[in-house]
Amino acid sequence: MMDTVMGVDVGGTKILIGLVRLDGTITHERRYPSQRGSQEIAIAAVKRAVAAYWAELVESGAIPRPDAIGLGLVGQVDHRRAEWVFSMATPILTPYPLGREISEQFQIPVIADNDVHCATLAEIRFGVGRRFRDFVYLNVGTGIAAGLVSDGRLIRGHQNNAGEVGHIVANIDVPCECGRVGCIEAYASGGGMIRHARALMEQYPDSVLAQLDREGRMVSSTIIQAAREGDALAIRVAELMMKAQLSMVQDIINFMDPQAIVCGGGVFRDPWLLQGIIDGLTGWLPPNNLALLDNITVSKLDPQKIGLIGAALCAYQETSA
Ligand SMILES: [Zn+2]
Repeated sequence: MMDTVMGVDVGGTKILIGLVRLDGTITHERRYPSQRGSQEIAIAAVKRAVAAYWAELVESGAIPRPDAIGLGLVGQVDHRRAEWVFSMATPILTPYPLGREISEQFQIPVIADNDVHCATLAEIRFGVGRRFRDFVYLNVGTGIAAGLVSDGRLIRGHQNNAGEVGHIVANIDVPCECGRVGCIEAYASGGGMIRHARALMEQYPDSVLAQLDREGRMVSSTIIQAAREGDALAIRVAELMMKAQLSMVQDIINFMDPQAIVCGGGVFRDPWLLQGIIDGLTGWLPPNNLALLDNITVSKLDPQKIGLIGAALCAYQETSA
């Protein structure tokens, strides 16, 4: 029986590593910088962080040797082979056997999974999954993705790539990095709102967003705030975002029939988005499904820890399966 797993949560700006127990408690947490300049640089940063943690805490005997390492990675991950397959944001263009390399270096089982799948595993075990067998974990941060849960199990799909709801098309003419036109992620994610505002900036010379952008402070929360204060560009960006989010959630409800939707990711920190979605669904949902409105909530798990716990959970599950 496994006792402790070393969880590694690889985000866009930081890599969090900690020792995670089966009950979800985390100790000996450390933070390292992540990098995304190129595939080589991104992979080297992960290996460096794992090696630094191992040297400081495991090799020194400060903590017991973990039973496995669980890696949470952005983009597409082959969870069976612990291979980092593909990612647009952190450029991973050639499948890379990151898990096998770390496993050989430290002589320990290494399991990897996509970060949103990891967070969903944490929700299944410690969050909304305690109440509901059928739910969707919707993450709106830099990008958009969902964990789809049916009868208590994460739906992985053929290549562990199910839940890419950010690339649902809402029929609007904004090109997306994935090659389609009109994907929601291009204008309704945190990163997409910033790109959309920049693309329209010239048409709104008086917008406060220009100043915010120059100061490096134009993010989803400041755009939403500017919209509240009446800034015309911010209103345009936020209204399109909301329209697309509502459309996406309606699509998710149609194809998953969830009993609950639990929301995570930085953009949900402002209650505006969740309220807008609930308002939009009211009057659209049929009378027999109105109970769903009470079960669309922001995740109660700590957003700083959910990825780390989930990365460790995928290791517990895969190695005990
Ligand atoms: Zn797309």
